[in-house]
Amino acid sequence: MVENLKLYLAGEWTEGTGDEVHELISPATGEHVANVPLAAPADIDRAVAAAREAQAEYRHWSAFERADLLHRIADAVESDVTEIARIQTLEQGKPYHAESVADIAEANQYFTNSAEDVKRLEGRVIPTTDRNKRMFTFNRPVGVWAAITPWNFPVTIPLEYIGPGLATGNAVIAKPPEFTPWGLLRLAEAFDAAGVPKGLVSIIPGAGEIGEQLVTHAGVDAVGFTGSSETGRRIISQMGIKRSIMEMSGNGPTIVTDDANLEAAAELAVYGAYYNAGQVCCATERVIVVDSVHDEFLDLVLKASGSIRLGDPFDEATNMGPLNNEPTAAKMDRHIADAAERGAAILTGGGRAAGFPTDLYYRFTVIDQVPEQALVARDESFGPVLPILVAADDDEAVAIANRTHLGLQAAVFTSSLRRAFWYADRVRSGTVVINESTDFWETFQPFGGAAGTDTGWGRGSLIEFTDPQTVVIDIGNVR
Ligand code: ADP
Repeated sequence: MVENLKLYLAGEWTEGTGDEVHELISPATGEHVANVPLAAPADIDRAVAAAREAQAEYRHWSAFERADLLHRIADAVESDVTEIARIQTLEQGKPYHAESVADIAEANQYFTNSAEDVKRLEGRVIPTTDRNKRMFTFNRPVGVWAAITPWNFPVTIPLEYIGPGLATGNAVIAKPPEFTPWGLLRLAEAFDAAGVPKGLVSIIPGAGEIGEQLVTHAGVDAVGFTGSSETGRRIISQMGIKRSIMEMSGNGPTIVTDDANLEAAAELAVYGAYYNAGQVCCATERVIVVDSVHDEFLDLVLKASGSIRLGDPFDEATNMGPLNNEPTAAKMDRHIADAAERGAAILTGGGRAAGFPTDLYYRFTVIDQVPEQALVARDESFGPVLPILVAADDDEAVAIANRTHLGLQAAVFTSSLRRAFWYADRVRSGTVVINESTDFWETFQPFGGAAGTDTGWGRGSLIEFTDPQTVVIDIGNVR
């Protein structure tokens, strides 16, 4: 059955005024599962106007009233987890049992975390030189946010903007990609159930042009973006002076030192490379192993790779599903071919798997002796690949780790606390995880990159969704 989706626009479920429809094809089955109406420019204007009108009133709600609203949304989301997770697997391809349910089960936290935090979002009282002045700061809502989000976590990433955005008194217009909007649209039913003011949130799926119209719209005050560095740079150059939180690509190194628990390091490096088929901005994109433990580590990696079950994402035994789309699979093809040409050793996988309903099922690939110049080491691959680079010692491991422009999240495996901090002090990365996968995160964890990949710390930072305002009172001029 093909589902005819509707836009969630200005408080209504509508097909919009455009005549373009995207046929949503499941990467898992190759079947046409939904029709997605694409927003026309007039629909974007309508979403913005409705958001401005709703926000003008909503901004006066007290923090506690907003928190109550967010708790009601969280409750409504919680009661629909399995259906949202099913839709997510169908449109995105991630394993239902191994990943999708757990991912959606924590969706409510984006609302409850923000609801709790906003009650303690305090301003300041600032001492003045003049004894008659009193000076305060307030955290005001910015206004209307556009949330431009990708397809790898198509439901929860938009919530990183919608949760804190609403908590702090803003309106949010979310633009998911046209090929993964369904789960988020389903979740939007919770907004109606919770009594979100009409127009305060809109969800308008579409391709990049719709995102561009949104971020450059004069009625949009701020932009939250998660996606590739190329698109992020383009948005920054186009949007003009707007508040923004940009979360872009990563090339997360996992460093394995000579005193590490090698078994844990191997298992967690493999996990960080195949979880969500590697389509995670903080995936384990490269492993840097100190030479003296390389051979033993490699054996353990190959052993750990044996636990990966590529298959139908609805099957209970499956822990890795297909890639989401052809450009991602084609990038994997390019990265692997380039590594082979440069003389690296492709030990497992190395290409697409046969015998599946689509060409997007990719074999888990371990590549050893990868030179630093190889694409798979230098750029984000965003697929199930584990490239292994060898460093002579700790100093060289840090040097290799830091030769990147994408310092989002790194992992270090060591049994020594001294060494753990030595690395944390030196690795240029928004987060350094010790003895865990690069794919570790909490929904409230400050999350953002170093080395030019990100601006802002969306998750875990309500204050970035606000504008500071200083109020000065002269108490001497009162009659
Ligand atoms: P990915 O490689 O993860 O698909 P993109 O950066 O291409 O990442 O896409 C992330 C989001 O940015 C998607 O919602 C996409 O439609 C949107 N997008 C792409 N191009 C633009 C643009 N020029 N302006 C605004 N949004 C865009």
